[in-house]
Amino acid sequence: MQEPSDTTNPDPRESVESLETGYPTLSSSVFTTPEGTYYLKAPGVALLSKPAVNIAGLAAFLEGFDSKLQFPQYLNDASPLPSGTQLCKVAGQLCYASFTPKRTKNENAPRYFQNIKDSGHGSVLEHANFSFLFYGISRSVTHELVRHRAGMAYSQLSQRYVSGTVLRFVERPEYQDDPELHTLFERRIDRAAHDYEAIAEGLVARQKQGSTILSADARTDLRKKVQQTARSVLPNETEAPIVVTGNVRAWRHFMEMRANPHAETEIRALAFRAYLCLAAIEPILFEDYSIVSLSDGTFAVETQYPKV
Ligand SMILES: Cc1cc2nc3c(=O)[nH]c(=O)nc-3n(C[C@H](O)[C@H](O)[C@H](O)COP(=O)(O)OP(=O)(O)OC[C@H]3O[C@@H](n4cnc5c(N)ncnc54)[C@H](O)[C@@H]3O)c2cc1C
Repeated sequence: MQEPSDTTNPDPRESVESLETGYPTLSSSVFTTPEGTYYLKAPGVALLSKPAVNIAGLAAFLEGFDSKLQFPQYLNDASPLPSGTQLCKVAGQLCYASFTPKRTKNENAPRYFQNIKDSGHGSVLEHANFSFLFYGISRSVTHELVRHRAGMAYSQLSQRYVSGTVLRFVERPEYQDDPELHTLFERRIDRAAHDYEAIAEGLVARQKQGSTILSADARTDLRKKVQQTARSVLPNETEAPIVVTGNVRAWRHFMEMRANPHAETEIRALAFRAYLCLAAIEPILFEDYSIVSLSDGTFAVETQYPKV
């Protein structure tokens, strides 16, 4: 990966936490209004899952060819690779049966993946999946996020199932350092939380009085009928936690579209944080990306190899 282009800003890569565990995070603090409404100011990102690879499993397969090919020595490569890089390299090398001593060894993996990017053979990157928890992001952001279909899986907090007890909000960066906009934000989310509770209570009362439109056979469905109605007052700035699994090809496309200078500010912050985590543990797969410092103090990424 190249250096950030503006070296006067602190290096954002240093903000990555928990790197020693192999599962990086960028956490996000929780704040409360004077009335006790919870809110966050930045996307929280936690890597939950990455590939686990056992190339020794190739042994019986590699031993089944002419011994002159020396395929089994493929397993003796002395240079370990991060699991996603290793998995994609094995998958790619299977395509050409590149198991002989003349193959590209792990120490030259950067060159191997440069060829993949040059030739646009990004399908091998689809083998490595990474799952994140994203929190401290608004419903506006997740509406944009879930537009990314290919190679992505989503599980999002249900506003129908959960009650107002887990209601939190997200303050946009534009409000945070402006006393007037910040005060308006706090008042607005207090009001939204209050209105939500008031509507939910009113609906429960009507349910008990026998309202037909709010009736249901099961207890859970009764609750859903209340919450699916009460959520109509919640603003776009309501927090919408989500678990997202994507393969490397899909994550790259997401970052190219969303950690992009033209992307919306909040989703750009999210995409950039996810990029920092992935680049920290899989540097070879993202080494063509460079970090760009933008005039508003935020960051984007760019690459000469989009949409491999
Ligand atoms: C700055 C910005 C502004 C935007 N503004 C708007 C807007 O005003 N309104 C709006 O509705 N959306 C908007 N979008 C969303 C955008 O149109 C895409 O829906 C979103 O970025 C997902 O991109 P994608 O389809 O390439 O991604 P994915 O769904 O992840 O797809 C990845 C790639 O797979 C291929 N692919 C996926 N599905 C299909 C398919 N069904 N058929 C053929 N090929 C497929 C395509 O090559 C695609 O690029 C905006 C996005 C950005 C970044």
